[in-house]
Amino acid sequence: MRGRVFETLSCLLHFALASCQSAGKQDADFAIISGQRILMDTLISIDVYVAKEDSSAVVHRDIAKAFDAMSRIDSLMSSYSANSEVAEINRRAEQEPVAISAFTDSVLQTALWASEISDGAFDVTVAPILQLWGFGTEKLGVPDEKSIKALLSVIDYRLMSRSSGAVRFQKEGMAIDLGGVAKGLAVDVAIQTLQADGYRDVKVKAGGDMRMLASSLTAGRRYIWIQHPRANDKFFGKFRLDSGAVSTSGDYERFFEQDGVRYHHIIDPETGYPSRKSVSATVLAKDSRTADALSTALFVLGPERGVALADSLGVDAVILSIVGDKILWQTARGFGERLEVIDDVVK
Ligand code: AMP
Ligand code: MG
Repeated sequence: MRGRVFETLSCLLHFALASCQSAGKQDADFAIISGQRILMDTLISIDVYVAKEDSSAVVHRDIAKAFDAMSRIDSLMSSYSANSEVAEINRRAEQEPVAISAFTDSVLQTALWASEISDGAFDVTVAPILQLWGFGTEKLGVPDEKSIKALLSVIDYRLMSRSSGAVRFQKEGMAIDLGGVAKGLAVDVAIQTLQADGYRDVKVKAGGDMRMLASSLTAGRRYIWIQHPRANDKFFGKFRLDSGAVSTSGDYERFFEQDGVRYHHIIDPETGYPSRKSVSATVLAKDSRTADALSTALFVLGPERGVALADSLGVDAVILSIVGDKILWQTARGFGERLEVIDDVVK
């Protein structure tokens, strides 16, 4: 079960009651209507906060509509479905330019932006290495070093051209993977759908990607909880946030162990091995697709370079690493003042 960032209305948590009272709000002056679906191999949840008298049947219908929109994103972006646009690109773009939808084009634009600003730490063309490790399949395992080295020359986003609504690879054996942005994108689409339907207080969470809207109905009542990277049932820290997007990338999200070593799903494109500099990276941004791409990028860059990049972009972030039995954390852009650390011990 994944779930890296948690959010809750503080009023619903008994140990946070004091902060609710200080905000001068009454408990439960609204109703929460929720839905869950498994999409993108992840539990997605949507919470809509409405006045108590609002019709729950209508809200449930609108939530289902948002899930359907997310599901369409999944079909377009999935590397594993043979009918997706990504699969089509991966099948043909080394032979000829492959026309893509405006939507996929805009996603690629975000992915290429993340690739550029992170100097290739995020690399949308990392797919061949992910396949070699077996991520997304049943056959996970450590590949031999030679095979990894042989693939590194096709991992380079600069060898992918994107122009006039088409994509072309410049080298044989290239492939793209949008796993680092797809969930964020789906969250954005759900938020847009619900916003268009008139909702003002919403939370959409897809694994470690979360985005919220808040009006005076729920403002001032939210904490975001950052998962402890080595204990599923604990939190590393929390901070207040009403609206905006938060994403966390973590090495505990998808991994396997071989000979006592943990191998996870976020690859350093320079080495072809899982990136070891961080254990998690949490980023705040205006939308989820940006937060999602950046969290993957910052994770690979590690605390020093990651924080420098976040500072230069003006985004709040915290990057965790483990030294001995302690979690070390480095924050960008004054985020340290907002972050309340709860548990920094690794047992
Ligand atoms: P996230 O959980 O958002 O950090 O995304 C992790 C996913 O991004 C992985 O499951 C892969 O699909 C993809 N990925 C892994 N390594 C990279 C990388 N260096 N650059 C871009 N995408 C990556
Ligand atoms: Mg990401």
